[in-house]
Amino acid sequence: MDCNPRSLLFVLLLLLSCVIPAFPVFYPPNEVNLLDSKASQGELGWISYPSHGWEEISGVDEHYTPIRTFQVCNVMDYSQNNWLRTNWIPRQSAQKIYVELKFTLRDCNSIPLVLGTCKETFNLLYLEADDDQGSHFQEHQFSKIDTIAADESFTQTDLGDRILKLNTEVREVGPMTKKGFYLAFQDVGACVALVSVRVYFKKCPHTVRNLASFPDTVPMDSQSLVEVKGSCVNHSKEEEPPRMYCSTEGEWLVPIGKCLCNPGYEERSSTCQTCRAGFYKSTLGNMECSKCPPHSFAHHEGSLHCGCEKNYFRAEGDPASMACTRPPSAPRNVISSINETSVILEWSWPEDTGGRRDITFTVLCKRCRAVAANGSSSGTQRCEPCRSNVRFLPRAMGLHNTTVTVGDLLAHTNYTFEIEAQNGVSSLAPKMRQYAAVTITTNQAAPSPVAVIKKEKTTRSSVSLSWQEPERPNGIILDYEIKYYEKEEQETSYTILRARGCNVTLNGLKPNTAYLLQIRARTAAGYGASSPTFQFETSPDSAFSISSESSQVVLIAISSAVAIILLTVLLYVLISRFCCRSKSKHPDEKRLHFGNGHLRLPGIRTYVDPHTYEDPSQAVHEFAKELDASCIAIDKVVGAGEFGEVCSGRLKLPSKKEICVAIKTLKGGYTDKQRRDFLSEASIMGQFDHPNIIRLEGVVTRSKPVMIVTEYMENGSLDSFLRKHDAQFTGIQLVGMLRGIASGMKYLSDMGYVHRDLAARNILVNSNLVCKVSDFGLSRVLEDDPEAAYTTRGGKIPIRWTAPEAIAYRKFTSASDAWSYGIVLWEVMSYGERPYWEMSNQDVIKAVDEGYRLPPPMDCPATLYQLMLDCWQKERNNRPKFEQIVSILDKLIRNPGSLKITANTTSRPANLLLDRSSSEVPSVGTMGDWMDGMRTLPCKEAFSGVSYSSCDTLAKTSTEDLKKVGVTIVGPQKKIVSSLKALDSHNKNGPVPV
Ligand code: AMP
Repeated sequence: MDCNPRSLLFVLLLLLSCVIPAFPVFYPPNEVNLLDSKASQGELGWISYPSHGWEEISGVDEHYTPIRTFQVCNVMDYSQNNWLRTNWIPRQSAQKIYVELKFTLRDCNSIPLVLGTCKETFNLLYLEADDDQGSHFQEHQFSKIDTIAADESFTQTDLGDRILKLNTEVREVGPMTKKGFYLAFQDVGACVALVSVRVYFKKCPHTVRNLASFPDTVPMDSQSLVEVKGSCVNHSKEEEPPRMYCSTEGEWLVPIGKCLCNPGYEERSSTCQTCRAGFYKSTLGNMECSKCPPHSFAHHEGSLHCGCEKNYFRAEGDPASMACTRPPSAPRNVISSINETSVILEWSWPEDTGGRRDITFTVLCKRCRAVAANGSSSGTQRCEPCRSNVRFLPRAMGLHNTTVTVGDLLAHTNYTFEIEAQNGVSSLAPKMRQYAAVTITTNQAAPSPVAVIKKEKTTRSSVSLSWQEPERPNGIILDYEIKYYEKEEQETSYTILRARGCNVTLNGLKPNTAYLLQIRARTAAGYGASSPTFQFETSPDSAFSISSESSQVVLIAISSAVAIILLTVLLYVLISRFCCRSKSKHPDEKRLHFGNGHLRLPGIRTYVDPHTYEDPSQAVHEFAKELDASCIAIDKVVGAGEFGEVCSGRLKLPSKKEICVAIKTLKGGYTDKQRRDFLSEASIMGQFDHPNIIRLEGVVTRSKPVMIVTEYMENGSLDSFLRKHDAQFTGIQLVGMLRGIASGMKYLSDMGYVHRDLAARNILVNSNLVCKVSDFGLSRVLEDDPEAAYTTRGGKIPIRWTAPEAIAYRKFTSASDAWSYGIVLWEVMSYGERPYWEMSNQDVIKAVDEGYRLPPPMDCPATLYQLMLDCWQKERNNRPKFEQIVSILDKLIRNPGSLKITANTTSRPANLLLDRSSSEVPSVGTMGDWMDGMRTLPCKEAFSGVSYSSCDTLAKTSTEDLKKVGVTIVGPQKKIVSSLKALDSHNKNGPVPV
């Protein structure tokens, strides 16, 4: 074997064909080559100095592609200093340069007979220059980048042979400032073959993210990222300005913002492409184009909407995704049932609803008469619209049911009814509208009753009467029958007269006698119903003779009697006025007389839902006083309600003191429904009269703006008031406020009113810290509450305040109000903290359902926390009634020491909910521990009301005793009694396992 190291290296170089990657080589897209020695087919022309140092050698790789390599292997000689310098390399825009070297290096041990001069490294250097400086160079101008050593010189094959290993080393240089640079390789006595040299820089390559295009970007040499703005691809628009960051490693980071495809375009492979024919997209967004709905088409690409097929339409407000529809066919199977002058019409739904569900029916009434044409007997019909006084029940247009009753028709007359089914597109296709017609003839009908009878003249023995013809004579009135009798005789004997006209004089009557009378009209169809009974009296008999003396006495007697009667009447009027006035102070008593089918038991006041009034404005005037706008002075705006501003102002009623009031206004441009909803709050509030319910002063409905006037609450809503005064109240003050709210709620639940939106924001506070429940309304209570969120069942509910059964099944009761009260209790004790903090509504529902409950607020008395937990019992019947809550709070107020025992919160994380199952059992240790540990009630103080001297007596404490100290809820009583028993057994038998 030839032991010349240079030839050894050459042989090994041939072996390299196995390890050099094949051409073409693909580099990562974020690397831009400035020099690649392998890409050069001819001589590289690098400068080698001295001439016996580095040698340029041609070789081939395994594909026989020529490659240029440099080698040096003067390991046998001393003092080697061989330089190889590249050509000038322009820097382009790069600041930081990477040099990738592939080389082989023989380890000195593998070369036989070398002297101690062999090296195993070489140096890599560089020199910056603004232009090409030719072939001369000076070594000292170069700066060293690094000493390069091989990671491995050889690698072992399976057969135990050693083959030369290709090393790859990468070095960074920068920041570069001049226009270009040279690289140099200094050999000081190694056996090295430089197989390839690649110089490159990194960039963030052009890319498209979120439909925004980002250009090639060269990073800075420093650590900072380069922010690059993207531009939306064709046919898209910015939703939020797109941006991305280019890192020093040439990687794109943190895409922000995005673009959305225009209507008519959808996202495909990072571009916005037109919707295909038969598809449409009507909005900006990255959703796919949708297929045209039934009975519509899109012949062209890029459609925003699909057009409707012939005879199909889209109503205003129909979404683009909805099928095109058409007017319905005519109703079917019309049946009429005639009852004298009224008719019930019934029909079936049309066979074809036109593809819509918004079907209504309209009934048109025509009165038809046969008209003889030119004297011939086969006449035609002439129809005219029915008289306006024909009555339709429920109405003639917009019927949702397939029946209508038509009344007050003329007797014995032909009518034609045209019944049309209509839907949302009927008005767009008048020619396609179809109706079903039915012709009827009304029966002969008797006349309606005579309604009004007037007494014209009365004498001792006669009376003259007149009356009006019946409203519906239903034919020609032949005569009237007048039946009368003495009132005292009770119809046992009566007289009947007939009159042709509308008046009669009855003669031969007894003087000074009361008579009853009824009149009925007669037509060819018979008698109509009798009029209501009419009473009259004949004049007294003045024929008896009296002396002038006695006549004076009689005169005096008569005048005294008249005076007495007048006095009595006067007194009666005065007393009844007085009674009325005192009655009007009790609006609930007044309500006992209302209709609407509400069952009212004497002495129990019940809330009346204004919705049950057919005309809601009737409800407002029933429950609220109409105020004259001139009595109200508005001072300033204090808040914003759903319907308009809330102002403070003054109300001055005649002969009353001026008072401060809050004035809720209904802003202009309201709909009828908004007006009704707005005033419904007054209709509800006006029914309440309690110191802890906001008091209604009255309403203004007869002038604009429409207003609701209530008492003024200086401190506004409770939640913001508490937040403003964080930690500034004593426990007793807080309990006092809570007691007020509970008392108001007790009143409401006694009235049968469920509030549904009890929350601190809906409690108002006045200058004396009196809390009053407010925000009444019907559905709108929840609509206008910003806390209310839609549930899966569709209703809008303030999730965090609402009991689980009300969220899940809309089961709103006073028990669900009690749950909300528990949350208000928590809000008050935490000075207006948001229940469940920033947890999402979904998480709140889930956590509560799994049994987790809010933890005690900081420094919260144990009793109050237990009261909260009781309000949050899953089983709603176990929650305390408001009456019980009031009495618990009353006991606490009487015994303020009990507020000192706080529920332990110091070690809890602020946002952790408590698992009820793990938090309920107090641990039993010493008597004092037990007392401190009991969260059920402030035991030490509370028990001062029960006489006990030892644990024995304590253990004998019964629920009755507990009731005496204010523990009236079943849960706590049981817990205390069982805990007392446990304590007793602990004292007798040693510790109880807990
Ligand atoms: P509401 O529409 O009832 O929620 O009222 C909106 C806001 O107006 C409330 O949050 C209060 O700040 C204020 N407000 C309503 N009623 C009164 C009142 N009677 N006294 C003082 N401020 C009130």
